[in-house]
Amino acid sequence: MGARGLADSYGGYRTQLVNELQAKGIRDLAVLKAVAHVPRHLFVPESVRHRAYQDAALPIGAGQTISQPWVQARSLELARLTGRERVLEVGTGSGYQTALLAECADQVFSVERIPALSQAARNVLQQLGYRNLSLMTGDGTLGWRPYAPYDAIIVAAASPEIPKPLVEQLSPGGRLILPLGTRDSQTMVLVTRDPNGDGTRVEPVSDVRFVPLIGQFGFAGGASS
Ligand code: SAM
Repeated sequence: MGARGLADSYGGYRTQLVNELQAKGIRDLAVLKAVAHVPRHLFVPESVRHRAYQDAALPIGAGQTISQPWVQARSLELARLTGRERVLEVGTGSGYQTALLAECADQVFSVERIPALSQAARNVLQQLGYRNLSLMTGDGTLGWRPYAPYDAIIVAAASPEIPKPLVEQLSPGGRLILPLGTRDSQTMVLVTRDPNGDGTRVEPVSDVRFVPLIGQFGFAGGASS
């Protein structure tokens, strides 16, 4: 959808990262293709650019991180995207996962609470030519109601509870992926809304460590956000 025909000197590093993710169990070919395509080095500060294609979380400023590629790829796999979906991301951060989503889904809506991060992400995503995504600054625990329902919602920050507005904004059969737990330790869970829209099924996936989701249906605000 964007970043078409990108020619840079990092292609070999992206291939290595794809190989590493495959070795760690990522099987979804659309996700691997997106990782092979999106220039992660453009989403991280100069000071850590040499580490851009390591399978590691990296600082992006404002006390936040770009998540580990394996965690992002696993979240994308769990979203089961075919290219036709409307997706909500909570926690734009650097915008890297937003780009991966834009490669794998039809339309992407992404909310970030820190204006400077949202603006920086917008700049890179525009530079790469993505047209199928919209960004907003605000409290993503409230979702983005005017564009709901979403076939998939990915939350990229740790929440103490499953935010009710996000479940309400899922399509019947929709998937919500989020790290659930305390500020220090979480389990990534897959929440699937029943096809008839009534209940949800919650399945634990793996142990993870994310920065906190700060908002009305997340943690209370504080210096460590
Ligand atoms: N997916 C991002 C990437 O590829 O760079 C990484 C996201 S980072 C781990 C988590 C982000 O969630 C931070 O940028 C943080 O500011 C943001 N965040 C925390 N609480 C939020 C909220 N209530 N609404 C929107 N964004 C929030």
